[in-house]
Amino acid sequence: MTTTLNARQEAFAAAYVRSMNATQAAIEAGYSANGASSKGWDLLRNVKVQARIEELQTEIMARNDVEADRLIRHLYLIATADASDLVQLHIDPCPRCWPDLDARDPARAEPDPECMTCRGRGQPRVAYTPVDQMSPSAKALFRGVRHNPKTGSMEVLMHDRLKAADMLMRHLGLYRDQDEAPRADPLRDLIADICRRGSTAPLAKD
Ligand SMILES: [Zn+2]
Repeated sequence: MTTTLNARQEAFAAAYVRSMNATQAAIEAGYSANGASSKGWDLLRNVKVQARIEELQTEIMARNDVEADRLIRHLYLIATADASDLVQLHIDPCPRCWPDLDARDPARAEPDPECMTCRGRGQPRVAYTPVDQMSPSAKALFRGVRHNPKTGSMEVLMHDRLKAADMLMRHLGLYRDQDEAPRADPLRDLIADICRRGSTAPLAKD
């Protein structure tokens, strides 16, 4: 229920919530620079303009809340992500492990402990999760790929999980003194619980 403002008053209100400077806002709204200062103060005292400014500020705060929620969720996904959702290390038998077995034989899945070549250590193989198969937390953790054309090596880059956890803890006030009574906050309790257990909990889908 916006009370009607004229175009200049509306422009003043919009400019004022951006700069919080009445003189500047009056000039931006098209009032003459001469006397913009007193015009700005007059407009600020106008109840209709005041109501509109409050309305615009409420809208901005609501938007900021949404942004903050999004950021918290993103940090939470990074902090609780499992690196093995992005890159997996497998140990395959070496070519000498099972000379008598067919490559498709399930018994060939593990290295031969008696193998004289690898001594049962097998050979490592790295597997990458395709981006379209990543979980939301793996996607949040994923920062990109660094490819070295000279060596042909590929490095999966990840965001810093500890830094994300630290930002989250700070934002949620988890570093406050113990004797200060904390506000009830289910998300904070969940994160504190995960940090205590040192494990990653499966995330509910959106
Ligand atoms: Zn072997």
